[in-house]
Amino acid sequence: MKIKIIFILLFCLILFLFFSINKKSDQLEVYFLDVGQGDAILIRTPQGQNILIDGGPDNILLYKLSQALPWWDRTIDYMIISHYHADHYMAFPEILNKYKVKNILVTSHQPNDSLYTVWQESLSDKNVSSQIVKAGEIFRIDDDLSWRVISADFKHEDFNDNSLVIRLSYREINFLFMGDLPTSGEERISKFDFDLESEVLKVGHHGSKYSSSDIFLSQVKPQLCIIQSGEDNKFGHPHKEAVARLESVGCKVKNTQNLGTISLKTDGHELYYDF
Ligand SMILES: [Zn+2]
Ligand SMILES: [Zn+2]
Repeated sequence: MKIKIIFILLFCLILFLFFSINKKSDQLEVYFLDVGQGDAILIRTPQGQNILIDGGPDNILLYKLSQALPWWDRTIDYMIISHYHADHYMAFPEILNKYKVKNILVTSHQPNDSLYTVWQESLSDKNVSSQIVKAGEIFRIDDDLSWRVISADFKHEDFNDNSLVIRLSYREINFLFMGDLPTSGEERISKFDFDLESEVLKVGHHGSKYSSSDIFLSQVKPQLCIIQSGEDNKFGHPHKEAVARLESVGCKVKNTQNLGTISLKTDGHELYYDF
């Protein structure tokens, strides 16, 4: 009798797993993970692919990621490092240990420090390589979903100024991920011929007052502005002047510091969130 019950339970579990894994949806999910003072954004495509932009300031990312992903999903299809500052990729060596990472996209502006050495050793241990991307490159998942690299390495001394800026488009909804780009970089990309208008803006440099200029925001016209910063951080991010500029273009400003992980969903026409 006991064996019969165990078999029935096992059968139900297999059925549940089968339908969960094969579940088709047309929802794109974006998680601004609460990793403290640093960036980490998980994008789950309707096809079930995982894109991870930046890797936070420590291994708390692994815990936050496990909360957002189903337990059986151990694949990162694209790992993107906006720039090589510790608060943007500290957890990535450990992610390489715990997940199967298929593609790694990076900037060509490389540092000469101990964290970067650890990162290079992790890559060679796992026998994977990173791919340098350039401004203008387009990555297409399908007809509805793609992203463009808006800005990349422009040979500035400042790593923030060489941040990869990514604009992801799903049907009619666009997301702009700024890395730590300062106003000088914003000025540069404003002059490019790329469409910058985006419903959601991942605010540059954790809401620093040296990012998010009026001119730039008037081009982006964001409706929802997400800041990733840590509680009581020593930089005073976000700066009230930057927040005022975001609000002056009518953007709703939300911060992981106050809300924890911020998750959004979209079918490509409407944005869904619960705040
Ligand atoms: Zn940063
Ligand atoms: Zn930085």
